[in-house]
Amino acid sequence: MRKKLLPLGMFCAFEVVAVCLWLAKGNVFYLANFSYIGASVALGVGLFMHGSPHARRVTQLLVGLYMLVYLGLVCRENMQIEGFWYYLFSGTFEAATIHYAVAKIFGPLLFGRGWCGYACWTAMVLDLLPHKVPARPRVRGIGWIRYAVFVASLAFVGGLMLAGVGGMEQIMFWAFVVGNVAYYAMGIVLALVLRDNRAFCKYVCPVTVFLKPASYFSRVRITCDHDKCVGCGACRRACPMDVDMLDDSRRRENGTECILCMECVRACPKDAL
Ligand code: SF4
Ligand code: SF4
Ligand code: SF4
Repeated sequence: MRKKLLPLGMFCAFEVVAVCLWLAKGNVFYLANFSYIGASVALGVGLFMHGSPHARRVTQLLVGLYMLVYLGLVCRENMQIEGFWYYLFSGTFEAATIHYAVAKIFGPLLFGRGWCGYACWTAMVLDLLPHKVPARPRVRGIGWIRYAVFVASLAFVGGLMLAGVGGMEQIMFWAFVVGNVAYYAMGIVLALVLRDNRAFCKYVCPVTVFLKPASYFSRVRITCDHDKCVGCGACRRACPMDVDMLDDSRRRENGTECILCMECVRACPKDAL
């Protein structure tokens, strides 16, 4: 029953955000935007509940392409972390600041890293690569890269604004284009070299600096019914993020890496997750 309520709960959560922002900002775009994203997420989760192997891909494409092509390239909104800093420092609660608040800063308290599993346009491409499950253990000692990229993005936008550089809207648009090309190139190379589609997510992505602490407290999370579990290990072998989902504690290994992709649930022969 809890699993069946998940799609409805997801949609309702987005709808609450959609209505609140519509009324607060007086702009019907927010109603349409968050209703569309909520419906796309609920559709993917619902398809999964009905056994579709392509459920998550559907949502990734619906949300990822919408944000990358329509919001990013057509509407010229920088929805990457540089756009977040830009709107934040401008004192504007629009576009990227709202997107980050909902999907990456406060939302993960409810739905963890659902963004990473169902909506990110970078992972939308990386998940098409051949190494869906990592072929090797994690590389230790390089997690600092994400913090370096995070600080670099902050310094880039902060420096431009402190220097009073003009034409920031144009700069932010091209930063979005160049940044995405760089992310895709780096993500694809890392995936192929480390034989792990999600290597970019694990070592480089600066957004995880926001996502990981909040998702530690996520309400939606994978837990194990140990009365059903027979310890076969199929779930761990299916996980793209090396999560120890058999440990129900919040301190479990790589617990803040779970992207709620449900591959472990699908792999379990005993319906224990
Ligand atoms: S870790 Fe970064 S690149 Fe990976 S899915 Fe999440 S937001 Fe996207
Ligand atoms: S396989 Fe399970 S534990 Fe691993 S990321 Fe997906 S949902 Fe989370
Ligand atoms: S796949 Fe299911 S039964 Fe096997 S170890 Fe994981 S939770 Fe237990």
